[in-house]
Amino acid sequence: MEELRTSEVERKWQQKWVEQETYAYDGNSKVYAIDTPPPTVSGSLHMGHLYQHTLQDFAARFRRMSEESVLFPFGYDDNGIASERLTEKELDVEHQDFSRREFQDKCREVCRDYEDRFTEKMQGLGFSMDWNNTYKTISPRVQRTSQLSFIDLYEKGREYREEAPTIWCPECGTAISQVEMEDDEEETGFYDIEFDLVSSGGFVISTTRPELLPACVAVFVHPDSDESHLAGERAEVPLFGHEVPIMEDERVDMDTGSGLVMCCTFGDQTDIEWYRAHDLDLRVAIDENGRMTELAEDLEGMSTDEANSEIVDRLEDENHLVGRRADIPYDKNP
Ligand SMILES: [Zn+2]
Repeated sequence: MEELRTSEVERKWQQKWVEQETYAYDGNSKVYAIDTPPPTVSGSLHMGHLYQHTLQDFAARFRRMSEESVLFPFGYDDNGIASERLTEKELDVEHQDFSRREFQDKCREVCRDYEDRFTEKMQGLGFSMDWNNTYKTISPRVQRTSQLSFIDLYEKGREYREEAPTIWCPECGTAISQVEMEDDEEETGFYDIEFDLVSSGGFVISTTRPELLPACVAVFVHPDSDESHLAGERAEVPLFGHEVPIMEDERVDMDTGSGLVMCCTFGDQTDIEWYRAHDLDLRVAIDENGRMTELAEDLEGMSTDEANSEIVDRLEDENHLVGRRADIPYDKNP
């Protein structure tokens, strides 16, 4: 008798299940539907996918045995940054070099390859999905569903448009969701910079981001600080010369600096809170490519790192740099 190898036997039956639509949804009786966020097309499937789908498969098979109509579709999440990054990596290209349509076509092409491999792996593992019911999150049907859902929210008055600070990746050229982020600790310098008061005298603030000086819109002082008498005065921003108000606010961190900080639009979350609470100006010193804007005057076009060291040098030349501490870790968003 002809000897069959396990892999051949498995393949034969897996193929048969697909062809005979063994696990197809018949839509006759009570429906038990399983639909979960589909795997992201950002690389290969991993153990997490295997685990998650195994649990779903238990439920699907149990319900089928209870004579219920089971709808167990399979989806490919190929609509998003993860798939775009995969395409750039796979083809060694950058999306900026193509028109929107051209790049979309490239993404579809790369994703199709990966999706074929997803299908092969899922069928090879013997999962009981309905292969007549597959969907891609980039497909017109899913796009339409998401548009209808948006219109629904609009009609309920639950959507609004607002100009607001966002997490932006200059490399991807797009806003990034908080969930896509991982914090990373890096070493940097901490600089003590002397500001002049418009009246007379001066004070010192400490910062890790001297390149944000052109975006400075206010100076805040903690009410318990020895310098709280400065509130109500105006200060001149070193090198750039514009005047900013000095205001009191309890959110000033008293532990790391002098009890005085500059507020720039935007350096961090507190800057955003201050901007809103005190109705401050908006000064955008860094553009969407991570380069300095015209507010940085002759530093326009420099990267933030270049501007950082150039500004430190100039502060030193003009005797506005009164101290520096190197190599302190700070929380830099990637
Ligand atoms: Zn990015």
